[in-house]
Amino acid sequence: MSRISIFGFTGSIGTQALSVIEKYPSKFELDVLVCNKNIDLAVELLEKHKPKNVFVTDAEARSEIMASCPAEINFFDSMHSLRKYLNDNKSDIYLSAISSFDCIDLTIDAAKSGKKLLLANKESLVVFGKQIMHECKQAKTQVIPIDSEHFSLFTALKNKDLFEISKVYLTASGGPFVGQKLSELQNKTPEEALKHPNWDMGAKISIDSATLVNKCFELIEAKYLFSLDPELLDIMIHRQSIIHSMLEFKDGSVEAQMSQPSMIIPLAYGLLGEHSKDVKKDFSLDLLNRDIDLSLEHFPEDRKKLRDITLDVMKSEDNSGLVFATLNDIAVKKFLNKEIKFGDIYNLILDNYYLIEKKEVNSIQELETNRLEIVNFIEGN
Ligand code: NDP
Ligand code: MG
Repeated sequence: MSRISIFGFTGSIGTQALSVIEKYPSKFELDVLVCNKNIDLAVELLEKHKPKNVFVTDAEARSEIMASCPAEINFFDSMHSLRKYLNDNKSDIYLSAISSFDCIDLTIDAAKSGKKLLLANKESLVVFGKQIMHECKQAKTQVIPIDSEHFSLFTALKNKDLFEISKVYLTASGGPFVGQKLSELQNKTPEEALKHPNWDMGAKISIDSATLVNKCFELIEAKYLFSLDPELLDIMIHRQSIIHSMLEFKDGSVEAQMSQPSMIIPLAYGLLGEHSKDVKKDFSLDLLNRDIDLSLEHFPEDRKKLRDITLDVMKSEDNSGLVFATLNDIAVKKFLNKEIKFGDIYNLILDNYYLIEKKEVNSIQELETNRLEIVNFIEGN
């Protein structure tokens, strides 16, 4: 029986993980579930799955959820008591699936556990990738990436010699505005931007997919997860999300990793520890299906400045990732609140990334202070 803790259990990734877990009642025991403030869904899931412990970050939502839940579930009253519990009672598997990098402490605790970390939260790698991977290495924590491209690379790179590889491509579906020029996107609404053609995901990552910032983040993730030289990493657009990554070898031959676009595949592998035939029943890829289109396109030239920032982040050892992710966070929040237009997400990032001072950030405290400095810099302008 594996003890599991899920950070972000009410989200798209969290609920899909629970849908896998519920199929194997004798294999898994839910230890700690964490969410923020989605009261109705949290109550529904807690009544159904009956974990041992819960933490709800938002205090008001916590009281409401607690009042509606079975009394045998223990609720932590602070992040401090949650972290103390996690420190004293290790789970076998941690799923880090909180959006943004608000609860990065929890990902770091899981990285230090010496157990298994299913890592969906990409922002934590963008802002603190070197430190997180260092902690995992020190503690011998096994990391399974829960992002389709990185999970496909995790599979593809097994038993490969990195010296033989000349290019690593991640594919991007291009999101809802694929094929459209940046100049045509200025006035796209949140409703249009949230409509992803292939994936049903949380709001933040859906907007990041529409702007292609998500794919830039994924290059940074890949660098840290697989210790790849930034120059090896590149992006191709592949509208159907069947090919997730490709390895080009020095002799020019290419290996593609393909699957149906479903997060159940990496989640089930991470939870069950194997490529399970149970998954094949629902997600086998029918390559003879005539609707499958494997065509590839270049990353759009008019988004090159985002790629330049990404390369700059990958080549630096300072807070560049934090600057990129924080500017994007601010811009996405403003866009979803209808304070700025879609095209202004790019402008906010591009106008400010090089202006903000780059410096070393070595602890979570420094990271939080620096994040606030960046927010104040933008709000003060
Ligand atoms: P969602 O927006 O669907 O869910 C986010 C989850 O995080 C919810 O459970 C939410 O709780 C919780 N949360 C947010 N802020 C806090 C906080 N301050 N304290 C505690 N809990 C919090 O996101 P996704 O599931 O789509 O994505 C999660 C992560 O996985 C992201 O980093 C994303 O980039 C990554 N990812 C997602 C993929 C996908 O297919 N969805 C694919 C690859 C990566 P509540 O509901 O209560 O607000
Ligand atoms: Mg992805």
